[in-house]
Amino acid sequence: MEPAGGAPRESARAEALLGELEARVQEVVRASSWWERHGVDCAILALSLLALPPGFLCLRSDSPLVFALGITILGVCHYTLTVKGSHLATHGALTESRGWSKVWTLFFVEVCTSFTAEYAKYGHVKMHHGYTNVLGLGDSSTWRLPCLNRYVYMFLAPLLIPIITPLVAVERLREVELRTALRTLGLISLGLYSQYWLLLNVSGFQSPSSALACMLITRSLLAHPYLHVNIFQHIGLPMFSPDKKPRRIHMMSLGVLNLPRLPVLDWAFGHSLISCHVEHHLFPRLSDNMCLKVKPGESEPVSPRAEPQRNILDQEEQEALSGQVLGVGAVGVLALAPPLPFLSGEQGERVLP
Ligand SMILES: [Zn+2]
Repeated sequence: MEPAGGAPRESARAEALLGELEARVQEVVRASSWWERHGVDCAILALSLLALPPGFLCLRSDSPLVFALGITILGVCHYTLTVKGSHLATHGALTESRGWSKVWTLFFVEVCTSFTAEYAKYGHVKMHHGYTNVLGLGDSSTWRLPCLNRYVYMFLAPLLIPIITPLVAVERLREVELRTALRTLGLISLGLYSQYWLLLNVSGFQSPSSALACMLITRSLLAHPYLHVNIFQHIGLPMFSPDKKPRRIHMMSLGVLNLPRLPVLDWAFGHSLISCHVEHHLFPRLSDNMCLKVKPGESEPVSPRAEPQRNILDQEEQEALSGQVLGVGAVGVLALAPPLPFLSGEQGERVLP
């Protein structure tokens, strides 16, 4: 991932700074307890599992309020297990044991999310993290559907995510070994059928169609923020050409955005996808709680567009690097932006003042 000429000094300086940041983050990790490194996030996931029985029982009620509470519990827990759980498990951020990491990945990605663990790792960890905003490789293009009307795309299409996800998973199984494909099919079926069975036998749904409708509602409860978060974190930011892709630090510095905190999204999606997305791209094996810990000034309000790249650089480093590369007076890791030749086409100009 060498730059194709130009600005070698800035590039070396950026790499040196990344090394320094990595060493500093490692120090913070070493000084943190197991509770901070993994416990907090494991507790959130465990609570989400424990909240499922009351959620299913609430759906027995004739009271519309209790019924709505049941839908809310099941929907939020579904997103916590599938988005936060799958994301952290795929990165191996839930545990330091490789064996348990594999188990959690299969549980969260295949049983809970109805997707394939192999493709989740390949698509997210290898491609999206490895080639963030590199055109055709890690550029979030799976989320672009220009054929759809904007209102259909923003408001109706997200509702189809729970149906499309297992269909895409089955389509991807053509590329894996038969043994792996059978395991994935078994675990996806287990996850879908167990929810269906619980709705009929615990929640007391009278017909298969009402149980299936309830599954669709709970599984698409937070589908809109899920789709929108996926779009706004990367799309619209500078893109890079595959033949002139810059160093990793440069890809991370311009192609990733932190969003403002929101309690329900912090809980269900995790800090690494919301307010600490830059930190997550720099240090993908950190858990949500550790991403928050290495991000300074956490209690101060964050304005996403005005100050999107707040990060672990201190003020002095930011000032030293601000404007050095692009001359735009940017803050944080934005100061490590690559020289213009690395930016592809139409979006390059967006970083200019
Ligand atoms: Zn990630």
